[in-house]
Amino acid sequence: MDIYFYNTLTKKKEVFKPINKKEVKIYSCGPTVYKDASIGNMRTNIFQDVLRRVLQYNGYTLKHAMNITDVGHLVSDGDEGEDKMLKSAREEQKSPMEIANHYTKLFFQDLKSLNIQTPEIVCKATDHIKEMLEYVQRLVENGYAYETSTAIYFNIAKLDQYPMLSNLKEQKAGARVDVDPEKRSPYDFALWIKAPKNHVMKWDSPWGPSYPGWHIECSAMGQKYLGEQFDIHTGGIDLIPTHHENEIAQSKGKCGKIPANYWMHGEYLLIDGGKMSKSLGNVYLVKDLVERGYHPFVYRLFSYSCHYRNKINFTWEGIESASKSLERLKNGYQLHLVGKDEVEENVIDELEERFHQAINDDLNMPLAMGVVWEVVKQECKSPKFADLLTKFDTVLGLKIDEIDVRQLEEIPQEILDLLKQRKQARENKDWAKSDELRDFIQRKGYEIKDTKQGTEVTKGTQSIVVD
Ligand code: AMP
Ligand code: ZN
Repeated sequence: MDIYFYNTLTKKKEVFKPINKKEVKIYSCGPTVYKDASIGNMRTNIFQDVLRRVLQYNGYTLKHAMNITDVGHLVSDGDEGEDKMLKSAREEQKSPMEIANHYTKLFFQDLKSLNIQTPEIVCKATDHIKEMLEYVQRLVENGYAYETSTAIYFNIAKLDQYPMLSNLKEQKAGARVDVDPEKRSPYDFALWIKAPKNHVMKWDSPWGPSYPGWHIECSAMGQKYLGEQFDIHTGGIDLIPTHHENEIAQSKGKCGKIPANYWMHGEYLLIDGGKMSKSLGNVYLVKDLVERGYHPFVYRLFSYSCHYRNKINFTWEGIESASKSLERLKNGYQLHLVGKDEVEENVIDELEERFHQAINDDLNMPLAMGVVWEVVKQECKSPKFADLLTKFDTVLGLKIDEIDVRQLEEIPQEILDLLKQRKQARENKDWAKSDELRDFIQRKGYEIKDTKQGTEVTKGTQSIVVD
C-alpha cells in the first residue's frame, strides 16, 4: 500500500518513494541539552516515533540518526547572543559538559517513559568537530563561504534559490538581526565563529580558536551517517525558516544536493490556547504529568487526538479524558482477549485495511484511532480482535496488552489465587464452595461478576476480567 507524506519542500502530499527499497534513512534534529525537555518538545518526538513505527508497519527497516546539540546553538536561532549551553552552565554553576550530560540523561528517560524508540544513531555535536570543520573548509574551497573578523559566513548570494522551504518574510520573523557589519547579506549565516578570549568551548581551526555555528552540525553528521542524500528529514515547525533552510544551503554548497527528499515538520503544542513559557509558569514536563497521577502514555494517547501538522491545545481536562480513554482501551483489549465469539476473517481484514490506510495517509492518527475504537467497541468479543489491537499497537506504542501496575497492585496474588479456586469449584459444579469463595473475596473488598468473557473483578473504579 502506498504511503503519502506531506513534504514541506514541495508543499504537497506526495507518494513516498524511498531511495532504497528496504531501508529508509531519516535524520531528526535532536534536543539542545541545556534545559529540561517540555511536553511540547515531546510532542515533536512522539510525531517522529509514529513516523518510525508507520514505516516499520509497512515493512521497512530504518537507519535513523538524531543529533544532540551540545555546542553552537545561540540564544537566538540566528547568529546572536550567547551559546545556550554556556548560558545554562553559568546559571547553574556547572561545566557545559555536566549540563549536557545531565539534560541528555533526562531527555532519554522521557523518551523511554513515553515508549519512544531510540534512533539507530545518536550523535553528539562535540564528538564531530573534525567533520564539521572539514565541511566548512570545503564550503570555503567551493567559494560558498567567506571570512570576516568574527566568523566564517555562508554566502547565500551564491545559491540559485534561498530560501527553499519558507519565504523571506518568515526568515525575517525568524529573528535574524544583522549584527555583523561585515556580513554581505543579512541572510548570510555563521558556519564557524571565532571565539572571544574567555569563551569556554572552543577548538583550534585554520581561523584560530573557534567554535561551530548551529546548522553545520546537522549537515556534517547527516552526511557522515546517512550520506549526501537520504529519505526524510524531520523536526519541529520552528526549524523551517532558519535551521533547515541553512542545512539545505550548506549541502547545496558542498555537494550541490538537497540532503533529504522529504521534509516533515510537526506543529506546536499550545497550553490553554497559548504558548508555553517560563514567565507564565506553564511549562510542563513529563514528570509533572506523573506527579499528578497520569501515566506518560496518557500524554502519548492525548497527542493522537490531533494530526501532527495541526496545533494541539493542552488542557488538564484533555489529559483527564485521555486517561479515561486509555483505561477503556486497555479494558476493551482484555475483554476481547478472553472473548469466545466467532469473527469472520473479512471483518478483521477490512478493519486492518482502514487502519493501514489512515496511518499511510500522512500519519493520520485521529482517523486511525477511529478504527481502533471501532475494534474496541465490537459487540462480539474475540481474541482475534485482541490480536488486531496488538498489531495496531505496534504503531500506537501504548502497550495496551500490559496490565496497569496500579491494577496489579490492587488485585493481589492472594485474591487471584482465590479466584482460581472459585473457578475450579465452578468447573466441579461445587456451587456451595463457589458462593462461599465469592463472599470471602467480597469481604476483602473486591466485587465480582461472572460474564461471558470471564470473571470481572472490580475495586473502586478499576475493573479487570480474569479468565
Ligand atoms: P527548544 O528546547 O524550545 O529549543 O525546542 C526544541 C525543539 O522542540 C524545537 O525545535 C521544536 O521543534 C520542539 N518544540 C519546542 N516547543 C514545542 C512545542 N510547544 N510543541 C511542539 N514542539 C516543540
Ligand atoms: Zn538540525
